[in-house]
Amino acid sequence: MKRRDFLKTGAIGITAPSAIFGDSNIIANKNNPIILSTYNHGLPANDAAWETLVNGGNAMDAAEAGARVTEADPTITSVGFGGLPDEQGNVTLDACVMDSSGNAGSVAFLQNIKHPVSVARKVMEDTKHVMLVGEGARQFAVSLGFEEMDLLTVESRQAWEEWEKNRREMTPHETHDTISVLVQDKNGDFAGACTTSGWAYKLHGRVGDSPIIGAGLFVDNEIGCAAATGLGEEVIKTTGSFLVVELMRQGYDPTVACEEALNRIIKAHNGTPDFQIGYIAIRKDGQIGSACLKWSFEYALARGGVNKLHKINGMI
Ligand code: ASP
Repeated sequence: MKRRDFLKTGAIGITAPSAIFGDSNIIANKNNPIILSTYNHGLPANDAAWETLVNGGNAMDAAEAGARVTEADPTITSVGFGGLPDEQGNVTLDACVMDSSGNAGSVAFLQNIKHPVSVARKVMEDTKHVMLVGEGARQFAVSLGFEEMDLLTVESRQAWEEWEKNRREMTPHETHDTISVLVQDKNGDFAGACTTSGWAYKLHGRVGDSPIIGAGLFVDNEIGCAAATGLGEEVIKTTGSFLVVELMRQGYDPTVACEEALNRIIKAHNGTPDFQIGYIAIRKDGQIGSACLKWSFEYALARGGVNKLHKINGMI
């Protein structure tokens, strides 16, 4: 029986976390932090996250530090400074964080602030809210001393001006490249961060999955964590990252959980989706997983002193 056939028919009951992983596995993962990030820009992000852990930071500090590296890099056209703008030429950013206590913070449709991931963390830590959007999020950031700046670079402005000439709708997989950073620290605790400029040349006001807790990112310290990249609209409709974590709770291996979450999307599109989605996941026992719908996908994994890019092929 093929693995996917098994998934269609296999009845996996809901199991208590200790029964899934066994306490010995959880203990075995102690003192062995894991950092798992999307794409090749995950490599420098992982380095920064690793350094943060080495210097005594916790999983949340590390995830934020990793995401900030990508946000600050003007050559990455899908995140933060240098991210491609919406159809009107505005760079609008989405980000969220979630920590080991189940706390979450998020910003969406944020403009002129270089580090939305840090604003999202401030929403989590300094307010009673989970999500701030648009002008309110910007005002909140400015009130905390975040500097305002033009997030268009010469290159991203030129790219938008070129696009403006015929306004061809970009297919989602052409430009999507969110950074998601999942961290399990030496105590076995999780945190995650996710940040993006979203779908290039999107409608003004569009928000993707990346700032939506449960869609772009989900952390459950008992079970594991997951994050998404790709066509956010489809991830939102299936509450993708939450689904991956819940499948792990039911006993699915992390990669199979990612695949099963993607199976729902494949089915909804009659077996032939024409867009990309990728998931990454870490389970409490330290096992990691990933899957993507089509073509290929890369994730960066740092553990045991090695930070390496891994390539996987699409399911269809
Ligand atoms: N998921 C992001 C969004 O839809 C984009 C991406 O991952 O590349 O905004």
